[in-house]
Amino acid sequence: NTEYYEHLSEEPSITKDGVRITLRANAQTLADAIIAAQMHAEGIGLFRSEFVFLAQERKIPLSEEDQFHLYKSILEVFPTEDVVIRTLDLGADKSLPQFTLYQESNPLLGWRATRLCLAEKELFTNQLRALYRAALYGNLKIMFPFISSESELREVLEITRKVQDSLEKEQIPFKKNVPIGIMIETPSAVLISEQLAHFVDFFSIGTNDLTQYTLAVDRDNPKVAHYYKPIHKSILKLIQMTIDEARISKTNLSLCGELATDLIAVPLLLGMGLRELSVNPASLSHVKEVIRLTEIKEAKLLADNVFKTTRTSEIVELLKEYREKIF
Ligand code: PEP
Ligand code: MG
Repeated sequence: NTEYYEHLSEEPSITKDGVRITLRANAQTLADAIIAAQMHAEGIGLFRSEFVFLAQERKIPLSEEDQFHLYKSILEVFPTEDVVIRTLDLGADKSLPQFTLYQESNPLLGWRATRLCLAEKELFTNQLRALYRAALYGNLKIMFPFISSESELREVLEITRKVQDSLEKEQIPFKKNVPIGIMIETPSAVLISEQLAHFVDFFSIGTNDLTQYTLAVDRDNPKVAHYYKPIHKSILKLIQMTIDEARISKTNLSLCGELATDLIAVPLLLGMGLRELSVNPASLSHVKEVIRLTEIKEAKLLADNVFKTTRTSEIVELLKEYREKIF
């Protein structure tokens, strides 16, 4: 079995009827990236940069220099493929000691991710400087998490321009025109995706937070775990909206949430129109196996049927039926 999946990792990620699906890996350390490359991932679709900061419980944020070397090393693991590095998604459950002094009553709705970065300009600027410098060593794409409004995105982009201006003035080598993208992981971002598309090169759907914020269910609270359902009509509708807006605006689109590792959901996602997925290295071969057994024509019918039903249990039944059919 292990041999079978090892062999599979070398096969192309292509549906039974010949449609190419780009399959990248999620990573949070350089070691993850190396494993992903060994498993023939087509680049990194989500590098969760905050974990490097959280590791070893560093009291002092990583310096620009430390980050530059780390990002450069990750890019060098994938000389020809895209590497999407997400800026710090700190806060809530991923807090640095210096930011835990202020007790929030609703941390998940509070000072996290890009909101925190916009308030901690030095932290943000250091990371962006390191990213723009490292970008010279590969195909970097920079992604901002937890965006919920246009003004917030404009503010972020203004900072990226300032960072580039400073590097230019200081005559420090860096790459211009690094593609910029955002996570679509708040209901708001989906609903204004048409607006947001004007400002960015790509979107990546984060189904973990999108589920949490749409269903108003803490993704880490066991008491309400049975309410946490990514395969829910509301989430599927939001994903479909994002796919449609991305197509109209010609914005590159990927999905990097855990839903892409749910093997019964993969044909549905393809049927809904997704062509790029990013999953944990351990899931790469399993997801690829499903992709290779799926026919887009059938997957579209599956998606049509799913959208005709209302109850989650019925949707799951349809997905399981399709899985049985292809295996
Ligand atoms: C998500 O929210 O779906 C996502 C991919 O990001 P994270 O799991 O790091 O919040
Ligand atoms: Mg998220």
